[in-house]
Parts: sequence; C-alpha cells; structure tokens
Amino acid sequence: MILAGMSLEELEELMSTLGATKFRAKQIHNWIYAKSVSTIDEMTDLSLKFREQLKETAVVTDTKIKVKQVSKDGTIKYLVEYPDGECVETVLMRFDNRANLTACVSSQVGCAVNCSFCATAKGGFRRNLTYKEIVEQVLIIQRDTGLKVTNIVFMGQGEPLLNLDNVLKALEIFNRDFQIGARRITISTSGIIPGINRLADLNLQSTLAISLHAPTHELRKEIMPIENKYNITDLKTALKSYADKTGRRVTVEYILIHGFNDTPRVAKELAYFLKDLKCNINLIPYNSVVENDYKKPSTDDIMKFKYLLEHSGKKVTVRLERGADIDAACGQLRGKH
Ligand code: SF4
Repeated sequence: MILAGMSLEELEELMSTLGATKFRAKQIHNWIYAKSVSTIDEMTDLSLKFREQLKETAVVTDTKIKVKQVSKDGTIKYLVEYPDGECVETVLMRFDNRANLTACVSSQVGCAVNCSFCATAKGGFRRNLTYKEIVEQVLIIQRDTGLKVTNIVFMGQGEPLLNLDNVLKALEIFNRDFQIGARRITISTSGIIPGINRLADLNLQSTLAISLHAPTHELRKEIMPIENKYNITDLKTALKSYADKTGRRVTVEYILIHGFNDTPRVAKELAYFLKDLKCNINLIPYNSVVENDYKKPSTDDIMKFKYLLEHSGKKVTVRLERGADIDAACGQLRGKH
C-alpha cells in the first residue's frame, strides 16, 4: 500500500485495521504532507515497533526521480518514474521571490491532442495518470528541495480535461492535504468543451486557462488539430458560459510564433475575438523545440502585439521564460526523453 496521496480519513481507516489510534493517522499525515518524508523510518515520533508493523503493509512512495536538471534561473525539471517504468516531467518554478514556488504538473503520460508546436505530442499518448501519481509529482519536489510548493499549474504533459476525474481528485488533495488554496491552482486546457462545461458546473475557485494560440478557425486548426473536434466558435460559447456561471475570468494562453500568429493583423483579430469574453491574456513567446521549424518572435513584435491587445482594454502579461536552458519552458517538455 502507498501512503502518499491518502487522505486523513483513509489513513484513519488504515490505522483502525492495524489496531492503532486515530492520532497515529494524524502523525503520518503530517509526515507525508508537511514534512515530505519518503520512508516510514523517518517518522520518528512513531514507535520503532509500530514503524516495523506499518512497514509490513505500506511504503510512503513507489515513485522515483529518474533525472533532475537545474536551470541557471533556479527552475528545476524532474523526470519522474512510476513503478511501471512510465515517466513524466514535472517542473518547479520560482517567481518573484523564493516564497512563491509553482509546480507545473503533468496529468497524462504523453498526449493525444497533438498540437504541432508541442514536444510532448511527439511521443504520442501512453496513459492517464492516477490522482496519486499526479500528487506524487508535488511530493517529489517537496522531498527533494525541502520547500513547500505554494502554487500548482496543470500545464505539464497531457490534456488535464481528458483525465478530469483524476485531476479533480488531485486538486482536492492539493487543497485539503497540502493546504494549497484553490485560487492558487490553475487547470489548463487545449479546449475540451465537455470538460470546460463540467468545471463550470462545479464552480471551483481555481483558474481555468485556455490554450488558444490563434483567433480564427483557419489559423488555429493549422497548429491544433483539436480545433477540428471543438471549434473556436463553440469554444468561445463554452468559455463565456464558464465565466458567467463562475464569475471568474479565464486566462487566455497565447503562444507567439514568429511569422505565424504574431502579426499586428492577427493581434487585431484576437482582440476582436476576445472582446466580449471576461479574460486576462498571457502571451508566451515560443521556445524552440528541436523537432520543428517554428521560430521565436522578436521582442519588438511581442511588444507591438501586447500593445494592440492592451489597447482593446484587456490585461496582458508576457510570460517570463523559465528553464529554457533545460527544456523546461512551455511546450518543451519531453523534448529529450
Ligand atoms: S500543448 Fe498540451 S494539449 Fe497540446 S499536445 Fe502538448 S500537452 Fe497535449
């Protein structure tokens, strides 16, 4: 049995089968989520005898760090290996100050959505992660760094809304057991409309980020085949309904690719498309991935694009590049493994 990912109630049930008190469950819960230990032996406020008994039925984790890379800017990328040999990448980013630690987690091994600019898509889809496997990624970061993750973004490998049950269960654990506020958790999607509708009905406090990347059907389908299944017009209807039902602004993610979607004409089309949607816009200058020919936009083009969108009254940010030297930047995951 794997203890990581278990709730306090589940641990209490386990304790009762072992003939131990509920208080033991609290202690173990604290060791897993607050102190981030990886073995039962480290739970030193449990008696040696009880630790031996617990070790007969359980381990803290069965997940390993296969590779760890540290970027010049402090970003850390982990290749996390599960017992079946499948691996995903998880990234720890430090924004503003060291107190603000964001984990970018993966929700699937590989991805079936097949966006043309994405390194993950090159490996195809392999399987969904269980909620415990998602949770393990954050535990691995905490164990390895000794630091507490404060923010989570579901922006690693995979399409979270195609594995929504596990993503929601992991979100509940991040919220309840890690004490990470729902407002500090972002779920990103390529535009899976049934998933967006489900999130709207759940009315969570988390942020929904939509990877839009183009303002028209014709342009979007060139880089995102999902556009053929859920087109941009229906997507906007779903996003507007989400914003209305939840009262929350959507974050529009927009990767700027030189000469493709970074021109002033496209900026105006994007402003027009988004004019009646409550949203903030996050521009992400493209990061080169070896397997394709897309290019990074110039700083001048990024600033012009930003200006035109701001002129339409939207709040626009340009995402800081993190971990580009270790292929941990957006769209670069699973670049080399
Ligand atoms: S960008 Fe996201 S949704 Fe698109 S292929 Fe990559 S992991 Fe999948």
